[in-house]
Order: sequence, then structure tokens, then C-alpha cells
Amino acid sequence: MRNSIKPENSELVRLIGQAQRTVVFTGAGMSTESGIPDFRSPGGVWSRMKPIYFQEFVEDKDKRREAWNRAFSGVAGWVGAAPNAGHWAIARLVARGKVAAVITQNVDNLHQDSGVPPELLIELHGNASYATCLDCGLRHELAILKQSFLGAGEIPVCRDCGGLVKVATVSFGQPMPQAVMKQAETATLACDLFLVLGSSLVVYPAAGFPIMAKRNGAKLVIVNREPTDLDDLADLVLNGEIGPVMTALAPPN
Ligand code: NAD
Ligand code: ZN
Repeated sequence: MRNSIKPENSELVRLIGQAQRTVVFTGAGMSTESGIPDFRSPGGVWSRMKPIYFQEFVEDKDKRREAWNRAFSGVAGWVGAAPNAGHWAIARLVARGKVAAVITQNVDNLHQDSGVPPELLIELHGNASYATCLDCGLRHELAILKQSFLGAGEIPVCRDCGGLVKVATVSFGQPMPQAVMKQAETATLACDLFLVLGSSLVVYPAAGFPIMAKRNGAKLVIVNREPTDLDDLADLVLNGEIGPVMTALAPPN
């Protein structure tokens, strides 16, 4: 069913009202209104530079240097933006107890910045606002690594175990984190409404979650400015901008 957006009385308001356990699932489109380009847009990051694959990072010091250059110059543009109206609206739904989990493909930390508690947030592709040791998992803050990289040209290694340190995103060629995938699966199977915001739903395994939710009996709603691969499966498709749609759904008090 395809609806024009009539916020006050839309089908989405009704579905959210009925749901007990909503899972919100966000893709790169969630953050375009914060000025972060999505994957496929002409200004998107991979149209400007080649991704560095995980194996290259691990095996090649020059690739590591390049990766850190990118991270510290902010060229990928993933961190440092502010949450937009859509993020704030999700945070309000969370505060009202409507949301069981927020599963995101984004790495920009904007759900945290808008106040979604970490225990409700499932980051499928990691987070670009800090780094971790690939061996022991210790968290490292970018500001501290940046000082020694820019000052002394040191490629970051772990202060505890000497292992390689990498920005905490899941790179191309890096296996999906199994514990996180399991968490997302559990949340998906427990929900009665699965709300997709700003994902073209072509990237697997992430796009498998809406299918899983629907097969398990949940309602599926897709909000996107253009058609997605899973529109035919959805109970409701809203073609519009996430910020206005979500603000209408969860207006500020
Ligand atoms: P995608 O780029 O494949 O799809 C984004 C979708 O959102 C598109 O269909 C687009 O039409 C739609 N869209 C964009 N802005 C919108 C808006 N304001 N309102 C409604 N719809 C909007 O994104 P994806 O499927 O999430 O895959 C891209 C991958 O790249 C993700 O896995 C993610 O990890 C990564 N990525 C992350 C960020 C980030 O952290 N902000 C940014 C770019 C890419
Ligand atoms: Zn370590």
C-alpha cells in the first residue's frame, strides 16, 4: 500500500500506536539531512575515493597510513555532524517507550548524539567516532591517536598489547561482527513493527532483517525518498523525506 504523506492521520501513526515493540532500522539516508552524503549519491564517499579493504589495512603499512590520513582529515565526512529532525524524532519515540531497538547501518554516532541509549542501539557496521584494537578490542580515542599521528607520524598501535588499531567501523572485506548480528536478529524476531528509514535495502546481510521481520509476522513500513527493493513486501511505503515524516509522527511536546 502506497500512501501520500498526511502526517496527522497517516497509516504510520496508527501502526506505531498499535505496536508494542517497534524496531527502527536506519541506513545512510537517515543522515543526509545532517549533511552526510549517502552511499549512492554523486557526492557519496566511495565516488570520491577507493575503499581500503580490511586485508590491505592489516597487511600494508602504507594503506594503514592512508586510512589514518583519511580518518584524521575528516575526508570521509562521517563524524562531526549534528543529529537532524529525524534523529530527534526517533529519540522521542524511544523516550516514550515505543522502541525496542534501533538497528543502524550508519557509523556516524548520530543516534547516540540524539540521546538513544547505547543498550537500545545495534550498530551493524561499527562506529567511526572512535577506534579499537584488532587484537584485544581495547577502545582508543581518535583525538589522542591524532596527536601522535600528526605530531610524530606514528601509525597507531595498542597501548596495552601492541596490536593494530583501526577506526571501529566494519571495513570492506571484514567479517560482520557475529555478536552484533545475533543481537539484531533477536530484536528483529521480537518486534511487531519494523520501520525502515533511509536504506535502499540492497546491501546484504543487513537488508535481510526486514524480510526476517515480515516473515515472522511483524508489520513492515519503509520510509524512503525513492523506491526500494523491498517495497512490494511492505505493509506501508512512504516516499518522502525522513525528517518531516518522523517529526509528524513524533512531534516535539
Ligand atoms: P544507501 O545509500 O544504499 O541508501 C540510502 C537510501 O536513502 C537511498 O535509497 C536514498 O534515496 C534514501 N534517502 C537519502 N536521503 C533521504 C532522506 N532524507 N529521506 C528519505 N530517504 C532518503 O544506504 P544504505 O542502504 O544504508 O547503504 C549504504 C552503506 O554505506 C551503509 O551500510 C552504511 O554503513 C554506509 N554509509 C554510512 C553513512 C553514515 O554513517 N552516515 C553514510 C554513507 C554510507
Ligand atoms: Zn590491544
